[in-house]
Amino acid sequence: MTVSIVLFTSDLRLHDHPPLRAATEADQVVPLFVRDPGVDGAGFAAPNRLAFLADCLRDLDAGLRERGGRLVVRSGPVVEEVCKVAAETDADEVHMAADVSAYAHAREVRLRRALEAEGRRLHVHDTVTTAVAPGAVTPAANDHFAVFTPYFRHWSDVQLRPALGAPRVVRVPDGVGSDPVPARSALTGLSPDLAEGGEERGRGLLTSWLRTGIGAYEDRHDDLAGDATSRFSPHLHFGTLSPVELVHRARKAGGPGAEAFVRQLCWRDFHRQVLASDPDTATVDYRTKRDVWRDERDAGEDIAAWKEGRTGYPVVDAAMRQLHHEGWMHNRGRLLTASFLTKTLYVDWRVGARYFLDLLVDGDVANNQLNWQWMAGTGTDSRPNRVLNPVTQAKRYDPDGAYVRRWVPELASLQAPQVHEPWKLRGLDRAAIDDYPDPVVELSEGLARFKQARGLD
Ligand code: FAD
Repeated sequence: MTVSIVLFTSDLRLHDHPPLRAATEADQVVPLFVRDPGVDGAGFAAPNRLAFLADCLRDLDAGLRERGGRLVVRSGPVVEEVCKVAAETDADEVHMAADVSAYAHAREVRLRRALEAEGRRLHVHDTVTTAVAPGAVTPAANDHFAVFTPYFRHWSDVQLRPALGAPRVVRVPDGVGSDPVPARSALTGLSPDLAEGGEERGRGLLTSWLRTGIGAYEDRHDDLAGDATSRFSPHLHFGTLSPVELVHRARKAGGPGAEAFVRQLCWRDFHRQVLASDPDTATVDYRTKRDVWRDERDAGEDIAAWKEGRTGYPVVDAAMRQLHHEGWMHNRGRLLTASFLTKTLYVDWRVGARYFLDLLVDGDVANNQLNWQWMAGTGTDSRPNRVLNPVTQAKRYDPDGAYVRRWVPELASLQAPQVHEPWKLRGLDRAAIDDYPDPVVELSEGLARFKQARGLD
């Protein structure tokens, strides 16, 4: 009788899951998830993500039960717990997905060593959490691409493995103890309109996206009020959707919308290959501009206003309030709030990245930190000193002001263009919105400070 363990991490699905497929070649499989306090210690846990995770685990357990199995949940340091389960079940092999953070890398190294010391093997599978594995395509003189466009070209030429179906039967050995599968209801401090997790939900979204969303993606993905993006990001973060399968299905759908969408999936792999080769970029500038950021105490009021969505710039405030309410923010909102914090307010990108990670249901070390760096100009952007003007951006991506009115009720009575520049109102009109703050800084002042700090005059 052979037993394998499949260790689920950020790949909480049954469809297109190479480690699970490989593990089911043994007579019996232990589908294992370990709640590791080290993850909280590394700053990865946040109530919104824990809630989404709980949904995913419950759904995974339900899917396994439909196939005759169940999910085994353990709590404790991951290496210890995996070794315990392996000893209890006399498992020969452990299968898991490759991942890119420093934490994931250290986990893999320690787990391999501990298992090998007991005569067991660890198999780490690529292309579970990415479409193309980090390092699978590289430029001539580097171990990763530092520029997106050539990466996209090479990435597009890679022949992807076929997507795998879900296993029909999963046989779990009898008597393996499990903690209860966590429930969202046990958590507090959640965003009121947080998305629901789980593979079933993710696959439902995928079906309707392919039917009605993807065709218009190229034209509408930047429309703030239109909300016309896929909203797959938490499903990609927790692995309830497979990047390989998404690329295949989008390519099959075809058309300019699908092409633009696949390009975004490539951005995700791009950041992952940067982080995999240089894990320090989670906290350290990728290409430093020698910024001497404003002291956080001196900038304290500005930072608080940004966090609360009370900067006096309506589109910035709308986006920050969407973040609080949904634990998610439109990509255009992320770009312009990040530009506002790092460039207009000249606050360290790590302050913003940390705050996003506290709230985002899709909060992801690779995507969050490297997008923050991109916008701060310390990352891979070839125009590192670009500054997004929140008024111009609002007029372009929220032309009639619907996004601002939805999220900033103080301004719900205003139309464009006033809704984007309420400080221009006078007299009774101004009095009608007097609970909305004045701008924390003049845009010209912010720009001058940034240019001086970067020596751009
Ligand atoms: P869609 O537009 O439907 O795109 C499909 C998928 O492509 C997304 O789910 C995502 O996985 C990927 N994608 C899209 N845009 C990007 C991008 N710019 N970089 C990398 N991958 C992308 N994304 C996260 O998943 N987690 C984060 O923590 C995160 N933090 C961000 C912080 C900042 C400052 C910025 C500017 C962007 C951040 N993004 C992050 C990227 C992007 O904003 C989100 O992935 C996207 O808004 C999610 O919505 P969607 O699933 O509807 O995206």
